[in-house]
Parts: sequence; structure tokens; C-alpha cells
Amino acid sequence: MLEIRDLTHSYDEHVALREVTLRIEAKSLVSIVGPSGCGKSTLLRCVAGLQAPTSGEVLLDGEPITGVPGDLAVVFQDYSRSLYPWLTARDNVALPLRRRGLDKATRRQKAMEALEEVGLIDTAGKYPWQLSGGMQQRVAIARALAFHPKLLLMDEPFGSVDAQTREDLEDLLLQIRASSDMTILFVTHDIDESVYVGDRVVVLGGPPGHVAADLPVILPGPREQIATRELPEFVALRAEVGRLVRGRLVERR
Ligand code: ADP
Repeated sequence: MLEIRDLTHSYDEHVALREVTLRIEAKSLVSIVGPSGCGKSTLLRCVAGLQAPTSGEVLLDGEPITGVPGDLAVVFQDYSRSLYPWLTARDNVALPLRRRGLDKATRRQKAMEALEEVGLIDTAGKYPWQLSGGMQQRVAIARALAFHPKLLLMDEPFGSVDAQTREDLEDLLLQIRASSDMTILFVTHDIDESVYVGDRVVVLGGPPGHVAADLPVILPGPREQIATRELPEFVALRAEVGRLVRGRLVERR
């Protein structure tokens, strides 16, 4: 579905990503983890068509991405800047649906359905500044859901909320993905989170950013915050990802 081929991106002399190659299956959730500065955001911006690669290419359903794809939604870390303060939660969610060519009543109805899916039906009429950080991020997620993108990019989406809210949002993400057919690229620097939500964890090393490892996440049973994190498979995988992120195995590979 998404193919990144030999992607290199330089900012003037500075090589941020070097020859990154990844194939992302449709409907999968791929976590991308790596230390700060290894090029995670650069990779997402190239996939979002916001930045042209210096060399290599990104293909979406076989077509090179040359501008922002129509079937894409992005959820950023900074919800306070991604929602419009003068619009209610419902209208924030409904706004991008104009790009789908839907009439106002349908836009509002779809916005309400998406807010219901993230558990915020009762706050549809409130403004972002009347909502907690976790609720604002739920609105941002509802906005992505209502749009029904084929590809959802999430850049540290739970990085600015407290630990309990973060766990709730991780579970919301797992629930959403079970009921939708989106392909999700999920960037985080939280090692446990990358394993907990992912079907696959891609570890970026660097600089310059490169794929240090690409690990499948195979865990028995449905994921649950406490039981899953106690599983020996989870503990072993998080330790491996942790070592890779800290660069201890990268030199040997
Ligand atoms: P990450 O998201 O993993 O922290 P980034 O993609 O933000 O990494 O950055 C990768 C490298 O590219 C860093 O060294 C960063 O300083 C540099 N960089 C990022 N954006 C720019 C930019 N707009 N101009 C110049 N250098 C940049």
C-alpha cells in the first residue's frame, strides 16, 4: 500500500535520512521509534507529501507522492495548535469533510458519529479551550476518523498528555483500528508504546536516519494495558527495541 524506496532527505549539507526502504501493508499499524533527531518527522513529512525527497521515492498504491495525498489524515502531538479555538468540537471535526464534497447536514452527522466513537458525544458543542488535553486529542482523532483516510499519520500523538490519559488513548487507537481499514504510521519515542500499539516496530537509527531494525509484534490475545505488558513476549520485545534505540546493537548489525 505504502512503499518507501531508498528515501534520502538532506537539509542543505545535513543528511537527515539515508536510503530508507520500507513496505507498509494495507491496514497495518506500523510504529516508528528512534532517538530524537533520527529523522522520524522528516520521514512523516515526506510520506505526507509536505517535503520532496532529495532522492528515492514514496509510492502510495503504486503512485509516487508528489503533493499531499487526498486520502490522508495527520494527527500531531500539539493538539492545542491543531484545533481551531473558534470552532466547537463538532465543527472542528466537520471542517475537513468539505474536501469530501459533503453537504453541511451530512458533515455534521459524520462529525457526531466520529465524536461518539471517541466517547465525546456530550462535548460536541464545547470549544477546545473548554476541554482537557486528552479530550482535545480525542477531537483531533475524531477529525481524522470522520475523514475516513486510507492512510493515517500520527506524529507523537500522545506525547503531551498524562500517563493515564495516554493509556486510554492507546486503547482508543487499538479499538479504532480494529473497526476501520486505515493504514497507520505511528511515530513515537516511547518504546513500550511502540510495541503495545504496533503490528510492527521499525527502529530508526542515526544520524543520518536509517532503518536499524524492523520487528514484527506477535503477542497472544487481545491487548490489555496490564496483562499485555506483563507477557514475556512483550518484555523481551521492548528490551530488544530499547537496546536498538539506545544504539547498542546497531553497530553489530
Ligand atoms: P526526529 O523527528 O526523529 O526528532 P527530525 O526529522 O525532526 O527528527 O530531524 C532529523 C534531523 O534533521 C535533525 O538533525 C534535525 O535537526 C534536522 N532537521 C529537521 N528539520 C529541519 C529543517 N527544517 N531544516 C534543517 N534541519 C532540519
